[in-house]
Amino acid sequence: MATSLEGDEVEVFAFQAEIAQLMSLIINTFYSNKEIFLRELISNASDALDRIRYESLTDPSKLDSGRDLKITLIPNKHDRTLTIVDTGIGMTKADLVNNLGTIAKSGTKAFMEALQDGADISMIGQFGVGFYSAYLVAEKVTVISKHNDDEQYAWESSAGGSFTVRLDHGEPLGRGTKVILFLKEDHLEYLEYRLLKVVVNKHSQFIGYPITLFVEYECQKEVCDEDEVKEVKSEAEPKAEDMGSEEEKRKHDQEKRTTKEKVIVPEELNKAKPIWTRNTDDITNEEYGAFYKSLANDWEDHLAVKHFAVEGQLEFRALLYIPRRAPLDLFDNRQRKNIKLYVRRVFIMDNCEDLVPEYLSFIQGVVDSEDLPLNISRERLQQTRIFKAIRKHLVKKCLELFAELAEDKEKYMVFYEQFSRNVKFGIHDDTQNHKKLSELLRYYTSASMGEMVSLKDYCARMKENQTLIYYLAGASLEQIVNSVLVERLLKSGLEVIYMTEPMDEYCIQQLKTFEGKAYSSVARVGLELPETEEEKATLEKKKAKLEKLCRAIKKRLEPRIEEVVVSNRLVTSPCCIVTASHGWTANMERILKVQALESSGIMDYVSTRKYMEINPDDDIIEILRQKAEADENDKGLGDLVILLYDTALLSSGFTLENPQIHVNRIYKIIRYGLGK
Ligand code: ADP
Repeated sequence: MATSLEGDEVEVFAFQAEIAQLMSLIINTFYSNKEIFLRELISNASDALDRIRYESLTDPSKLDSGRDLKITLIPNKHDRTLTIVDTGIGMTKADLVNNLGTIAKSGTKAFMEALQDGADISMIGQFGVGFYSAYLVAEKVTVISKHNDDEQYAWESSAGGSFTVRLDHGEPLGRGTKVILFLKEDHLEYLEYRLLKVVVNKHSQFIGYPITLFVEYECQKEVCDEDEVKEVKSEAEPKAEDMGSEEEKRKHDQEKRTTKEKVIVPEELNKAKPIWTRNTDDITNEEYGAFYKSLANDWEDHLAVKHFAVEGQLEFRALLYIPRRAPLDLFDNRQRKNIKLYVRRVFIMDNCEDLVPEYLSFIQGVVDSEDLPLNISRERLQQTRIFKAIRKHLVKKCLELFAELAEDKEKYMVFYEQFSRNVKFGIHDDTQNHKKLSELLRYYTSASMGEMVSLKDYCARMKENQTLIYYLAGASLEQIVNSVLVERLLKSGLEVIYMTEPMDEYCIQQLKTFEGKAYSSVARVGLELPETEEEKATLEKKKAKLEKLCRAIKKRLEPRIEEVVVSNRLVTSPCCIVTASHGWTANMERILKVQALESSGIMDYVSTRKYMEINPDDDIIEILRQKAEADENDKGLGDLVILLYDTALLSSGFTLENPQIHVNRIYKIIRYGLGK
């Protein structure tokens, strides 16, 4: 719909439904910490300034529309407006329509859901809808914006489901955006410069552009000499009782010659130099925390921080933070902000994926290089030797930071719970750092008493004659603990690492050894246990005795199994099913089956080579042996072997292709047991 006003078209747009809902939620929810609106609007202004500065590095003419990059706050008591002006990139008409109302981001809905789950409104910035927080304090918002590629336009809305956009003929901005907040009656405190100073200092002190507040002072102007008008700034009127009688008289004389007048004095609020350029000894924990919050837009404190400078051939400073929480997955990866890259204090970009490898993408921070060129394209920048060297250093420092964190068990578990998958991805992606990464791994084990332990701890308490690191992966701790595969190990007091994360098994296969000790999967054939020569000889004898039975079983089960093997790993069970020393295990097969549900065809490639291991000391095996000795082709033997096989599959962590056949066999046995 369009109406004509003063000859210009005023177009009315409906807010996208979710945005309208979000706005009404913001307006109607009781929430006391409203000051965060200013942080959000200043952060938008800063982003817009970053963007124009970045574009100007390769095309300096972009700044012809204004070189001064800054943010200005203008409270106006008369009009009851608070205005935030930036000289950033600005918005075209299409940007205004799309960005401020018609195109919802994934964060819109996610934020409303989070609010319902008890999240705080101050988290709004994390969801990419910070602009609408303006409606916490404003009943109407006007956004005037000028982009280099378009005319100056005005966006306006008093919420209620719609907004307007029109060409703007007001004071030209040159370039940038002016957000005018028409404050609600009960929020006029945001016109007070003292409060504005406090709020900016609290939330926006680390913004990299000057934030200037227009402070209105009452002034006295001398009227006696018209040629020499002198202004005297007086922030607060001196009180009469503070003055002696002489003073009073003087004041009185002066008043005769002066009139009161209001002047506006610009005052810069964020004059502190960038925190990463300061000496580490001079920075308090609170300052590191405050910087982290403003940098990462996080409402929680950081978990750990590393601040360092590299000098010599390569020169840069960096400040790296580990957040307390992994980023919410709902965000589009492409929008995720990474470590901010600065070159000689000039912000270059915050979405440079290659500054650290992907597995470290949760690290927040700042890198400020002395050596990188300022005005080359992103692609060329990433190919420079300096860039690659910085990246290498950052990885090293991140790993150092993790290792330091590991010294505090409690803190480290917070980290591990959130980022263990990143460590494991690192093992997959970063072969050069396998040693350091594997030291970061933690697992539950058969002896860990509910606490996760490191591989170092595991190795330190290995049995004297133990040479391997035993592990078993499965769907859950409960399933692994009860698995037939670990019977002997547990009985002999050999510690077994339990792995329940889908990535665990792949990850350990990449590592192969830790401190010279090889990993050994309990789910694979030929498990080596510490044995005496005598034990070895006894097993060989048992093998010879069971040769015929092994042959008979293999004949029945081919091609489902490769081989039947006499094993010493079992204690109370007659047999188990394991897989070849390379290829899929039961656990891998389980994971692949889940994935196969999503993409058909995968299972065609999954063919687990299975082995049946039998327990020479078990009575079932002994009876079967006798049957096989009597008649290798005994029909009854065949049925029992298949029943045994299916049951062993289950106890070894596999699933059955056709459970109903197995179930029918069990019913048959129950009937038999009942004498039917
Ligand atoms: P976010 O800033 O997290 O993307 P917002 O809801 O705060 O989400 O803003 C929506 C979009 O509006 C921004 O992505 C940006 O494109 C645009 N925008 C907001 N404020 C400004 C500004 N001051 N200058 C230029 N563009 C802006």
